[in-house]
Amino acid sequence: MAQDPKSAARTGQTVAKGRGKRSCPICGKPTDDAYRPFCSKRCADIDLGKWLGGTYAIPVVEEDGSAGSGGPDDD
Ligand SMILES: [Zn+2]
Repeated sequence: MAQDPKSAARTGQTVAKGRGKRSCPICGKPTDDAYRPFCSKRCADIDLGKWLGGTYAIPVVEEDGSAGSGGPDDD
């Protein structure tokens, strides 16, 4: 019985597709299960620092758009 090379190739693709390793959003290295989605604690800290430092653009919703100035009783 000779194995079909095509069959073996397909099996390999299926395995590879099943476990897609993502890369660290900070440095691009493969992620570590202990520090997902980052590759290391260092990159996790860097990401946290970005949040604390305001590097990330966080959409600020100002609440004085729905109520406050310009009410129906303004006139
Ligand atoms: Zn990293």
